Amino acid sequence: MLATNTAKTASKYDFENLFKAQKTKSIALRKAPISSRIEKLKKLKRIIEDHKEDIRTAVYQDFKKPAAEADLSETYIVISEINHALKKLKSWASPKSVAANITFFGTSSTVKAEPKGVCLIIAPWNYPVNLLLGPAVSAIAAGNTLIMKPSEITLHTAALMSKLINENFESDELHVVEGGVEETTALLSLPFDHIFFTGSTAVGKVVMKAASEHLTSVTLELGGKSPAIVDATAHIKDAAEKIVWGKWVNNGQTCIAPDYVMVHESVRNELIEEMKKCISQFFIPNGETFNNSPFYSRVVSDKHFNRLAAMIEDAIDKGATLAIGGQVDASERLIEPTVLENVSEDSTLLLEEIFGPILPVNSFKNLDTVIDKINQNQKPLALYIFSKSKEVIKKVEGSTSSGSTCINDCVLQFMQPNLPFGGVNHSGIGKAHGHYGFLEFSNQKSILKQRIGLTSAKSLYPPYTSTKQKMIDFMMKYV
Ligand code: NAD
Repeated sequence: MLATNTAKTASKYDFENLFKAQKTKSIALRKAPISSRIEKLKKLKRIIEDHKEDIRTAVYQDFKKPAAEADLSETYIVISEINHALKKLKSWASPKSVAANITFFGTSSTVKAEPKGVCLIIAPWNYPVNLLLGPAVSAIAAGNTLIMKPSEITLHTAALMSKLINENFESDELHVVEGGVEETTALLSLPFDHIFFTGSTAVGKVVMKAASEHLTSVTLELGGKSPAIVDATAHIKDAAEKIVWGKWVNNGQTCIAPDYVMVHESVRNELIEEMKKCISQFFIPNGETFNNSPFYSRVVSDKHFNRLAAMIEDAIDKGATLAIGGQVDASERLIEPTVLENVSEDSTLLLEEIFGPILPVNSFKNLDTVIDKINQNQKPLALYIFSKSKEVIKKVEGSTSSGSTCINDCVLQFMQPNLPFGGVNHSGIGKAHGHYGFLEFSNQKSILKQRIGLTSAKSLYPPYTSTKQKMIDFMMKYV
């Protein structure tokens, strides 16, 4: 494993000169062939593949993430994003002709995706490789230069990312800056052409405010409360397995993990029983304790451990009952998979994003009350529906707004490269992944080409005679 790192202070970085060098390079890159982007993506892919073992070690050191989860949710996701971009990049980047009406007779119109310029990615800690390098693939594919700021909370992974990128790429093209709030604040004062931020809604607002100073465009991949609805017709065993996986992979520290479950009262007990079985089968299959389980990662920091433990206490104080788990061990930052029932609406568990291994499960009688509740809250990043009823699925999907809706599964929508990934309003602005990520880092430039000496507009130049007025009237009516 590569050496660990202590966060460097902002003064150790010459951000302005780094930015200037990237600005100069970004202008040169406008003319670079697409093949140079392809070469860069292939190089990034080789580096990740060659350091798969280092990635496993770093995320294990940061929060005991199991190797299989590191492969699946960090390395594989980035490789699959690169492979997809390599297949599609030429088509994404080629200028597209668009049709024109009679007014534009004799002209040609094209839309060209040009690189935005110097971009900044600010990443969270919860998938510290995937959420740093995934958007980087889109930025590189779109032909930009890029500064990346990993989270200071997952220090081992941040150090690894910095080493792998900074030792293999020129700093005027691709560079990792380590650090926390101080460094990010210094970076945010620079006039980037685009900022791609993944993190909390609160910090998203800080980023957007700073970006507004330079009218920098932003992609904000934020958080929030993602509900899962289990109706009376759902296949309960199947729903339980999928919810347990979606919730407890990465120890519940997934932006699109089901944050709370609303289950029809007629199937509530069955769902809880099936979830209980699943949790044992997935994480302690040989009767071991959660402490010894090689399949169960940890809460990332003491601060988050304390926040989550307080949420359990608060819910129980307000009348919730413990259905599964509840054991915590501060020395290990371990919280067993915990399910609470009858959680009061004024509990922090139902008011704030949980982002940890605790799942409130409340029951409902009438689906309309569930839809109303979702619509009264901020629009979720993800919404899950478990049902066999086409009417129920159509009703919930059609009457709610969310970044993504996933029917009879959890989390999988993130991995489908042809689907846009992102939130709405409080859960995010803009979209990531595949073509959508490429577009986010590109300016859609319109190019209209006219013949010299000719233009249909000439017939409408002033002075505005009555004949010209008639032509304008005709155009307004028929074109
Ligand atoms: P965070 O907002 O605390 O930090 C994210 C990044 O912002 C880090 O790099 C951090 O150094 C920086 N930062 C923190 N405070 C800052 C400040 N005051 N000024 C400038 N920069 C600052 O988020 P986190 O705790 O790392 O991640 C968890 C959050 O991210 C959750 O809310 C989760 O839902 C969200 N998230 C969203 C997605 C998504 O794709 N929508 C994915 C993962 C995580």
